[in-house]
Amino acid sequence: MSKLIGLSLSLCITDIINGKVNKEDVSCIIAATCAKNDADMKKLMDGYSTMYWGKDSERAVEIALELFAENKVYQPRVNGDVHPALNNDDALGVEHLGNHWISSQAFTDAAYAMYEKEGQTATERMGAKYGLPFKWCEPCECMEPIFEQACLTCGSAQESSSRQ
Ligand SMILES: [Zn+2]
Repeated sequence: MSKLIGLSLSLCITDIINGKVNKEDVSCIIAATCAKNDADMKKLMDGYSTMYWGKDSERAVEIALELFAENKVYQPRVNGDVHPALNNDDALGVEHLGNHWISSQAFTDAAYAMYEKEGQTATERMGAKYGLPFKWCEPCECMEPIFEQACLTCGSAQESSSRQ
């Protein structure tokens, strides 16, 4: 079943607290945030509560922290990459649903198409651009981006060692 990839922590969590999107349907959120430690995180949550979440901020923060704890929030900027800008991702061939969601099926389809066309380095580039975690993939014999517990390049299932 296809899930959703969010492209904005503030807006996607607003959709969740407003009941537009179920948290269970969220595969991950690629955030433009750059929180590297607990102090950053506290500052981020305080700022977003004031700027975006208003009266629902307590619930919003709770959901955000749950998603972080479940390793479902990726922050490309932490690794020095640029966040895939909203509505500006035609190069990757992933269609946006509204302005801050893409379907995980569309994402893996795009990755497969890129792999067919340009090979392994294309999916690695895509994974880096979206801030996905990289792990050693046995079949690929390389560090590969991991998406939904599978290698984005070859699709083989990965050990879930990063999930506690
Ligand atoms: Zn692989």
